[in-house]
Amino acid sequence: MEVVVAKTAGFCFGVKRAVDTVYEQIETGKAVHTYGPIVHNGEVVKDLEEKGVKVIENRQELEQMDRESIQPNNGTVIIRAHGVSEEVYQLLEEKKLECIDATCPFVKKIHRIVQRHSKEGCHIVIIGNGAHPEVEGIRGWAQAPVTVVETQEQAQNFVAKEGEKLCIVAQTTFNYKKFQDLVEIFEKKGYDIIVANTICNATKERQEEALELAAKADVMIVIGGTHSSNTRKLYELCKSRCESTYYIQTLADLKLDLPNSVELVGITAGASTPNKIIEEVQNYVRINF
Ligand code: SF4
Repeated sequence: MEVVVAKTAGFCFGVKRAVDTVYEQIETGKAVHTYGPIVHNGEVVKDLEEKGVKVIENRQELEQMDRESIQPNNGTVIIRAHGVSEEVYQLLEEKKLECIDATCPFVKKIHRIVQRHSKEGCHIVIIGNGAHPEVEGIRGWAQAPVTVVETQEQAQNFVAKEGEKLCIVAQTTFNYKKFQDLVEIFEKKGYDIIVANTICNATKERQEEALELAAKADVMIVIGGTHSSNTRKLYELCKSRCESTYYIQTLADLKLDLPNSVELVGITAGASTPNKIIEEVQNYVRINF
């Protein structure tokens, strides 16, 4: 029996970079804070907590903290891959806090586009989910006006001021087809627009590889947090190609029953699943079946 782990399983480049930064800082013995949980995975957050990493949940919390409470021994605040608004950087500076910026370079690029076009007077339109921290951060780089659009209805209802130029960007994980459909609505309105397709390929590549693997596999195992929407999506895609698809958070959830006829087991994982868990599952299947 063959066991194949998808090459794109687990952390994307930006999340891996941010998580590695936190572990590197822990090694220095300094107090480490992250602005928001570094990744939406219970196992990782628990491990970091045990190592003394504290999470600053939001701007209000940061406002109430002073240098001494954050940096008792030259500690540092790490900004996660999703990025933050310009205001948060200013606040960190005002408080003279040492900060390590682990914002994914792809997100940073959106901040620069928004800042530049906003300064030039464009109305910024962010295609994405307004409640997502990445979008909140992007929004915070616009000088005004800025609008977040997620649905066709919102795009239809949008009205620009006379002579206003629009600059449209996307949340990095937004679905490309939906983005195109929404941009088309703005185009049909006859507005003067600049479109920057800022969707990151990491999600798309992970989904395409999972579909390909599931089509060949007799059994698929998808690993990720129950609240992780990208893992759920992976599970649905795999299930559509491979009836025997399992959705697990960790090895402890795996109740595998493999008949002798099984020739290929495929494994993939959501963007916030650490390598350690993927390896544990992989080794278990290799050793026990
Ligand atoms: Fe990962 Fe892409 Fe988001 Fe960067 S932009 S954190 S690589 S999904």
